[in-house]
Amino acid sequence: MERVCVYPGSFDPVTIGHADIIERAARLFDQVIVAVLHNPNKTGCFRVSERVDMLRTVTQGLENVTVDVWDGLLVDYVRRTGAVAVIRGLRGSADLEAEMTMAQINARLLPGMETVFLTAKPEHVCVSSSAVREAASFGAPIRGFVPESIESTILTRFDGA
Ligand code: ADP
Repeated sequence: MERVCVYPGSFDPVTIGHADIIERAARLFDQVIVAVLHNPNKTGCFRVSERVDMLRTVTQGLENVTVDVWDGLLVDYVRRTGAVAVIRGLRGSADLEAEMTMAQINARLLPGMETVFLTAKPEHVCVSSSAVREAASFGAPIRGFVPESIESTILTRFDGA
């Protein structure tokens, strides 16, 4: 049986840190579903469809990776897909604290649900979607923060903003 994992997040936008976690998860599992989780009551910076498009561009060469959207509870999505694990990335102790709580809540809501943590590469520890949005909005370069294939899409969005 295929071992499927779900990598959930806002991906607003996907960064080089996310891309690295996706590639590594794709080596560990048979299938990776990158799920753009969004709350319909909250608006992000990029539309969900734009985030999905950027994720598809970034994961183009990875045959066992698909991109999906979910606006409900993560545990319901995990149940629906039959995933054996949820992947989350850890950049440091602040992430760990928040992520452990989430993992424990999710395991209570769906007994047996496993959260697998992959640690960020040292060079990606300072990379976040919010830093990318902030830099791009002031016209600063975002090279090295996002995969090159989506750099212009992000910069165009902030052009003249
Ligand atoms: P969320 O809003 O769910 O935290 P994000 O899109 O910000 O969504 O992040 C999704 C996941 O990727 C989280 O587990 C986060 O800790 C992880 N992550 C974010 N940035 C990086 C990075 N630079 N390196 C590794 N993991 C990261």
